[in-house]
Formats: sequence, C-alpha cells, structure tokens
Amino acid sequence: APMSLATSTPSALHTLQHVFGYAAFRGEQEAIIEHVSGGGDALVLMPTGGGKSLCYQIPALLREGTAIVVSPLIALMQDQVSALREAGVAAAYLNSSQSAEEMATITQALLAGELDLLYVAPERLLAARTLGLLERLRDQRRITLFAIDEAHCVSQWGHDFRPEYLQLSVLHERFAGVPRIALTATADPQTREEIVVRLRLESARRFVSSFDRPNIRYRIEDKDNPRNQLLHFLRDHAGESGIVYCLSRRKVEETAAWLADQGVTALPYHAGLGNDIRAQNQTRFLREDGIVMVATIAFGMGVDKPDVRFVAHLDLPRSIEGYYQETGRAGRDGLPAEAWMTWGAQDVVQQRRMIDESDGAEDFKRRARARLDALVGLVETVGCRRRHLLTHFGEDSSDCGNCDNCLNPPRTWDATQAARKALSCAYRTGQRFGAGHLIDVLRGERTDKVGEWAHHETSTFGIGEDLEEKTWRTLFRQLVARGLLAVDHDRHNALVLTDEARPLLRGERVFEMRIPPERRRTRRGARRL
Ligand code: ADP
Repeated sequence: APMSLATSTPSALHTLQHVFGYAAFRGEQEAIIEHVSGGGDALVLMPTGGGKSLCYQIPALLREGTAIVVSPLIALMQDQVSALREAGVAAAYLNSSQSAEEMATITQALLAGELDLLYVAPERLLAARTLGLLERLRDQRRITLFAIDEAHCVSQWGHDFRPEYLQLSVLHERFAGVPRIALTATADPQTREEIVVRLRLESARRFVSSFDRPNIRYRIEDKDNPRNQLLHFLRDHAGESGIVYCLSRRKVEETAAWLADQGVTALPYHAGLGNDIRAQNQTRFLREDGIVMVATIAFGMGVDKPDVRFVAHLDLPRSIEGYYQETGRAGRDGLPAEAWMTWGAQDVVQQRRMIDESDGAEDFKRRARARLDALVGLVETVGCRRRHLLTHFGEDSSDCGNCDNCLNPPRTWDATQAARKALSCAYRTGQRFGAGHLIDVLRGERTDKVGEWAHHETSTFGIGEDLEEKTWRTLFRQLVARGLLAVDHDRHNALVLTDEARPLLRGERVFEMRIPPERRRTRRGARRL
C-alpha cells in the first residue's frame, strides 16, 4: 500500500540519520523523497554535489522490494555500491566488468528478494535477459522504483549522449505503475524538455534546485603569459587545496612539473597515468592540505572534497556545462572559493578546428560548435558572470556583485564601425587573406603584397588608419572568436565571412569589445615600398 505522508516523513528522517549518518535533509531532498516514496514520478535537477543519490536511495529503503538504478559510469556505480554496503545497505551492481559467475550470484540475490538497490548499466538493463528478469519481479510487485541517474545522457544535444538512454522509454512502456525518478545536474531548458519527452516523464513532478553557487567567485582573464598568471593566482591561494584543469595529458604533466619547480606542491592526474599513481595522487589530494592537483577532466567525478578552495582553468572547457561542473568542485563547504580561468581567442580557434577535423557526423559537429559558442559568450560577456551562467540554466538572477565583471566593470568600446570595416575589407579582397594582410589594407600600408593585388585600389584601403595594428589584431581575433569570421585552414588561414556577419553588416547589431582601442598617434609612412 502507498505510504502516507505522515508516516514517510519521520521514517525518511530516521533512515537519513541512522543509515546515512546525516543530521538533516538538504534543500529539496525531503520533498523529493516524500513524493517518490509515495509512488510519484519525479524529474530532479540538482547541481553536482547537491545530494541527488539520497533522493532515490532513501525511498528504496522505505519501500518493499528492490530499486533499480540506471547509471552510465561503471566507476561511479562501484563507489556508490561499496559506500552503501558499508552503511549496511544490501546493494549490488550489474555491468560488463563482471564474470558470468558474479552475475549469476547477483541474479540469485535479486530473485530471492535480498537486494534493496541494484545498479545497472543501461546496456545491461536493455539486454533481453535482464528485462525478462525484471518483468518477473514486476509481476510479483517487487520493483520499488526505477532511478535514472545522469538523465541528460538521453539528450542528443548534450556532451554525454548515450544512445542506449533513448531506449529507456521501455521503463515507461513495460513497467507502467513503477515510479520513476530521473536525475541530472545538467539543467538548460532544452535538455530538460528532451529528458521529459524521451523518457516519457510528462506527468512527473519537477524538482528544480537553484544552480547558484553564491560562495564561488568567477574570474576570467585574457591570456597573456598563462603560466605566470597562474602562479600569481596560486600565490593568492598559498596553502589551500585546488584543481588546475588542462585539456591535454601532456600539458598536465608539463604544468605540474613546472609548478613543482616553482615550489608549489602540485601533482598530476590524467587517465594515462598508472592506476597506482592516480590513486596515490588522489588520496594525497583528499587527505593533505594545500595540494594543487593539475588534471584533465578525468579528475573530479566522484571526488568529494568539501574544502577545495579554487579551480583554475588553463584551457577553455568545451561547454558551459563542463565549466559549471568543473568549477562546481570548489567550495562545497559553502566557504568562499574562486573559479579562475585564463583564455585567448586562439583557444577558440583551436577548439573549432578540432571540431571541424573530428570524424563526427555533421550534426554532432554543429552541436559541439553551438556549445563552444555558448561558452565564448560567457568568457566574452561584459556583464555579471554568475547571472550569465544562471541564465544559461534557465534561472533568473540579479548581478552578483562578486565576480570579476561586477567588481571591476570592464571598460568597453563600441567597435561596431571598426568591425564593419574589417568585415568589408575581408569581403572586398575576395575572402582569401589572413588578418595580417587585411590590417595592412585597412591601415593603408603600401606593402609589396598590397601592390601585387592592387589592394590600394579597393574601397577599404586606408579606412582604418585611426587604429593601431594591435587593436585591429584584437578585433579580428574577436570577430573569429564570436564566429563572424571563420578561418579557412586549407587556404592559408584566409578569413571568410559567415552568416553571423550579416546582421552586423546590415547595421542590425552592435559589436562591443572589452579592450579599449589603441589609437594611432602619429601617421607613419609606408612600411615597405
Ligand atoms: P550528487 O549526486 O548530486 O552530485 P551526491 O549524492 O553524491 O551528490 O552527494 C554529494 C555529497 O553530499 C555526498 O558526500 C553525500 O553523502 C553528501 N550529502 C548528501 N545529502 C546530504 C545531507 N542531507 N547532509 C549531509 N551530507 C549530504
């Protein structure tokens, strides 16, 4: 029989305290547990570290039978199951890492009704044998609930797309009446709707926690001398624990070694290191104070250290979701923490190139580009960073007063006119030259190349004399970073106009830049010729 609210509340709290050893529920946990224990479907959006697991673990213990947890990551599954077993909960998992014998033992325990929770990888769940087994349990009314963890894996737009997740609609079709709870930390409105539609959760109650992490200060700097910038940043955090993210394994090792030379207690972590070294470095990071972990994104999943005081990025993450998740590892204890990143337009060009040259389908590439563009929007914004992040996740907020842009509002410059000049110069010269030559044309430099192509006769020759070469360089980089110009790597890095350039050329949008221009002071003569 479904439990009434009156009895579920005290026993949920009792379970929290006596099985898990926590004093009180956090945020929406209690409401979610009540709803699911009462047999309702739920969609739970909660940031990483918010405490999603208890939202299905406690209902699993409160109701008779076995809860089935679909989880895509084998390592995480194993961690959860061993933590549950330590707490005295009868939990097990089924995945591809197991022998036939192990699987048989677990199947037996399941059929004998000895398990409170069974974690399964999606492909294992969808195997005909497993589904058959679960149908037997269903017929005996012994499935408590289905929990679908990392539910955003169902989104084809997301960075973690797993095709098997699309087939999880079988849970609705073949197990009607068994409550389902889908959980994710990826909450942009588009992903949310995709989860609802694909998992058939139209009538599920939604529990949306705020993604705001008010104790994190966001700072994003232009790359100048990244290593020194990092060192400077680390000096402000001497003696504190933190993570420095890099994109490649090689850069992780080089950066860790360099930091060690500078006297920083830095350790490397990436998937290419031996298991022993990884485990050893992770343990030191968790146990000792003041360790700087230099890592690829392989580090962090399931690492639960409350007093990480900073997260630094030496390379751009691939998406806002990635950035949010990585920076979210700072300040879980609620005390002030800092998320710092250094970036350059060159990083954007490099990542676009990696996407272009990957073997993914065109559709996949388009999505990867869209995610990167959203991130570029965040690094380029002159407004509040936190507000920008929360808006991305579909949440309203006011300016935080704590991020770099709020504390030191950047000087901006309306570069619309200059940007139009730059774009028409690229267009008038046939979209076959790189920034260097275009700048010469704009500034009216009579170089050999200008003469050779007769570009002193184009209408854009010399129309940009008023700005320094450096300013033009920055402007071109920004035009590329924001996608108004594309780099054609096959044609000597020629700059080509994109569709994004049209509204600007038509005068329908403005182009603001963070860095104020350097005006040309004296008119110099021709450089060559
Ligand atoms: P998520 O899956 O949302 O990233 P977890 O379920 O792994 O988060 O929980 C993150 C951490 O918070 C875990 O160490 C968990 O034990 C702890 N936690 C969860 N709920 C509570 C609570 N009510 N009180 C104290 N700690 C909690």
